[in-house]
Amino acid sequence: MLIVPEALIADLVSPEDAFAAVEAVFAAMDAGGAYNFPVVREALGEGRQYGFKSGLDRTGHLLGVKAGGYFPGNAAKGMINHQSSVFLFDPDTGRPVAMVGGNLLTALRTAAASAISIDRLARTDAKVLGMVGAGHQAAFQLRAAARVRRFEKVIAWNLHPDMLPRLGAVAAELGLPFEAVPLERMVEADVIVTITSSPAASLMAAHVSPGTHLACMGTDTVGKQEVDPALVAGASLFTDEVAQSVTIGEAQHAVKAGLVDATAITPLGAVITGRHRGRAFDSEVTLFDGTGVGLQDLAVAGRAVVRAQERGLGSAIDV
Ligand code: NAD
Repeated sequence: MLIVPEALIADLVSPEDAFAAVEAVFAAMDAGGAYNFPVVREALGEGRQYGFKSGLDRTGHLLGVKAGGYFPGNAAKGMINHQSSVFLFDPDTGRPVAMVGGNLLTALRTAAASAISIDRLARTDAKVLGMVGAGHQAAFQLRAAARVRRFEKVIAWNLHPDMLPRLGAVAAELGLPFEAVPLERMVEADVIVTITSSPAASLMAAHVSPGTHLACMGTDTVGKQEVDPALVAGASLFTDEVAQSVTIGEAQHAVKAGLVDATAITPLGAVITGRHRGRAFDSEVTLFDGTGVGLQDLAVAGRAVVRAQERGLGSAIDV
């Protein structure tokens, strides 16, 4: 079994690798070659969440699980709030293949999913990127979004405004003007990424203009919520996996309220494989409910292992 520690990941997997790996696995899911197992997610108290996301990707020859969660007290201890590890097994024998540090991989695969949705669903002339959220994931989201559209400006809102300058520094790195705005000014955005741990809707239908693409990435658990259910109900809905979208994703609230049915939600993989046309007209509001699936984790961890093996990196142990 190969151990690929967190410290090696940045050199092994680029954002472009993550984009390609996640796009391939979304397509495999749509073609029936890969599926996720039911998510286990437990509240540990004091806001801590822990769980397991797993699946089998026959196309990519990957079987495994990501174990990890969200520990909101970590930031004060100098650690990021998300902590996770990915375990890969041989799909033919069940033997352990690798244990891979999952923190950077989580950020890369989540940003990749959001960027794929922007690439496939946002208007090609999108100029203004709106960011709702400015935590650890937000910087990755901003960088990934900037790779798929020629944005001219970033506007951002965060419940805790003191976190915004850090996101502004990322925009500056990318050469993009950055402005902190009230939520009402999100009507100026062509693409909006939401990436918060909010328990209640911040972004309301009145804050979004016709033709906007939304990538709602923060809601990955029962009880989290970033956007108005009326906004979800009025949008053309896409997701990584429908079963997760209606139970732990942003759509859970609109479904519970009887505003949306699971049959109205399209897997993004269907757009990638060409089974669904994606955006139909310029004024359509499209919304990607990015819940984060185990197969994304296996896909990027698989890339890390192949690269580590090629370069003789990581530690091999007998188990
Ligand atoms: P973080 O703790 O670094 O940042 C949290 C963000 O949420 C900050 O912007 C903070 O200001 C904001 N926030 C906190 N409480 C809020 C409230 N009540 N209302 C509005 N905003 C609030 O977290 P992070 O690592 O950036 O992760 C953000 C979210 O993304 C989390 O919910 C996390 O579980 C989720 N996430 C989803 C995926 C996925 O695949 N969909 C992957 C990773 C993380």
